[in-house]
Amino acid sequence: RISTLLDAAVANGQQWLTAPRIRRTRRDGPYDYLIVGAGFAGSVLAERLASDGGKRVLLCDRRPHIGGNAYDHFDRAGILVHKYGPHIFHTNSEDIVAYLSRFTAWRPYEHRVLAAVGDHRVPMPINRTTLNTLYGLGLASDAETEAFLQGRAEAVDPISSARDVVVSQVGSELYRTFFEGYTRKQWGLDPSALDKAVTARVPTRFNTDDRYFLDRFQAMPLHGYTAMFEKMIDHDGIELALGVDHRELRNQRLAPHTIFTGPIDEYFDHRFGALPYRSLAFRHETLDQRRFQPVAVVNYPAPEVPYTRITEYKHLTGQVHRQTSITYEFPQDDGDPYYPIPRPENAALYKRYEALAHEHPQVTFVGRLGTYRYYNMDQVVGQALATYRRMSSVPEFRQTD
Ligand code: FAD
Ligand code: UDP
Repeated sequence: RISTLLDAAVANGQQWLTAPRIRRTRRDGPYDYLIVGAGFAGSVLAERLASDGGKRVLLCDRRPHIGGNAYDHFDRAGILVHKYGPHIFHTNSEDIVAYLSRFTAWRPYEHRVLAAVGDHRVPMPINRTTLNTLYGLGLASDAETEAFLQGRAEAVDPISSARDVVVSQVGSELYRTFFEGYTRKQWGLDPSALDKAVTARVPTRFNTDDRYFLDRFQAMPLHGYTAMFEKMIDHDGIELALGVDHRELRNQRLAPHTIFTGPIDEYFDHRFGALPYRSLAFRHETLDQRRFQPVAVVNYPAPEVPYTRITEYKHLTGQVHRQTSITYEFPQDDGDPYYPIPRPENAALYKRYEALAHEHPQVTFVGRLGTYRYYNMDQVVGQALATYRRMSSVPEFRQTD
């Protein structure tokens, strides 16, 4: 049981589950690759290049830890928390599960989310239970639920924005209740100004299935993400430089090739203007109670509530502890870039940077920030593995000095 393991580790003051081993790097090369960013994109590529390709890699991150936004650690109370908000792993790709399973065992976990609407806590995505609770209905079958929603849905043609997707499925009232306020807070934009893909991530259900994801594989790394990353990059061919910004290294000719997983516009000194990213402020708290809320995440769509959601980590990890740690998320413009903002003008600006990147064959851009895509973790792993396959398929790759 993970709880036993974690509690034992904390009680014994063991750091092996928490602190990534910081290896001093000589920084004198030579390296075959300089990888910027030790999140999923950078770490997967470092692992592949070193252990499959036999390459020498310098992996740097300006943060003092590995794991990128998926980094987790034990807080002062000894509870495993996610520094950058809740990360739930889910995928339909067997290849990606097989790859990551080399570095971690898993704890089966199916994510459930409730939305706070008035005094109700109702399942999100909207399902039959949501409607029955909210409206005091007795919808008893999928067909009845479908008919109910069809009666509210409003024809929108074409469906082009994040607003259109929802209104065409559930109508304006449910759209306002669950999506309008939440999205305006989360993105600082009205849903009508965002790509339809944003809200299309959240389906509508006619049944009572209250799982947030339906993917075939849903689980959390048994000892956490950081422990998984540690194992991934623990290789003699990988030197790790934490707390080091690419800016400090870029003129040192450390490697003939760079893999950049930070913001692509930053790499090019914002030549065409800054790509917009949405950020978050996190408020982490530990409470003197065992449980705070019934599920891991409760969403707050109401516009008057300044945060979007509260996460309680013990649901994700299964950890047993007499206290509990939670995180509030307050979206904001300033701060670390967390979300590329999916809308047409941003995609057009990104295309200009992408074209510029093609003129720099000695640099490869990967990851959520490097390719300006609203990707989940599994998609970033898939993108990094595909990038490695492409890189390693050229004949020169296998040549050694
Ligand atoms: P990152 O994790 O951002 O890593 C990039 C790294 O590059 C960072 O550590 C950064 O410090 C470093 N870096 C950038 N520029 C420089 C520089 N100039 N010099 C040195 N280092 C640099 N996905 C899911 O699948 N499930 C979820 O539940 C989920 N929840 C999320 C919740 C939140 C709040 C957020 C923000 C994201 C969530 N995601 C989730 C998405 C997930 O975080 C990303 O898909 C994944 O972490 C992206 O990995 P990456 O390597 O591309 O980028
Ligand atoms: N969304 C919403 N209300 C909710 C949940 C989601 O309006 O209760 C919208 C919001 O715009 C959000 C998007 O749907 O950014 C995608 O939600 P998801 O949970 O997939 O976002 P994530 O937190 O994973 O980035």
